[in-house]
Amino acid sequence: MDNRVTVQSLNPYISCYICKGYLIDATAITECLHTFCKSCIVKRLETKEGNTCPKCDVVIHRSNPLHGIRLDRKMQDIVFKVVPELQCREVLREKIFCQLKGIPYDRSQNQKGRESEVSENQGQPVDAILDDRVCIQLETKTDALKALNKKYICCSSRTTVNHVKKLVAKKLFRDLEKCCSVDILCNDEILGKDHTLKFIYVTRWRKKDPPLKLYYQPRVDMLGFSGEA
Ligand SMILES: [Zn+2]
Ligand SMILES: [Zn+2]
Repeated sequence: MDNRVTVQSLNPYISCYICKGYLIDATAITECLHTFCKSCIVKRLETKEGNTCPKCDVVIHRSNPLHGIRLDRKMQDIVFKVVPELQCREVLREKIFCQLKGIPYDRSQNQKGRESEVSENQGQPVDAILDDRVCIQLETKTDALKALNKKYICCSSRTTVNHVKKLVAKKLFRDLEKCCSVDILCNDEILGKDHTLKFIYVTRWRKKDPPLKLYYQPRVDMLGFSGEA
């Protein structure tokens, strides 16, 4: 029996009934615990039938429906674990939002629709996002090496090029030791193994759209190396 859980089978539990997308700022109705995106449910509360759950019709709150909903961080964590790319997209969206508004980015804050609160927070610089996670796209540079099944990877921005090499070696050869037989490139430049993804993002990808696109190829002084896999 196959016990693996696919993302697809989880979709009904991590999606929003209103917009059908993955939950963003998952917000639960305390009465029935049905969960929606914060922006979706708040928007709905403003409509005529807004005081009832869209899914089961339970009355959300007698006087003030805003008192009958709360952020569901556990659920949001689950969504981001199952769909890590989503978190990268969200963080980037918030970062861009803050840049447009000229306010500092603070990832501990929930930025959207809370400009007044956020603008009082003079905490972290906009680059704070990079202390957290970077989304990379890993492609093979030559036919000598196979493409990866999973090209999009969300990792800590402290991840180094050497970690990426190990990842490629593990995926392609099932052997971490072969990490020294591959080079990682960004914009056609071979990257030093100790650089962090944060450094590469800031120095080589700042003006481009995410994800950070990296390529791998057999190490240059190993040409003739056969791309076994
Ligand atoms: Zn929604
Ligand atoms: Zn409900």
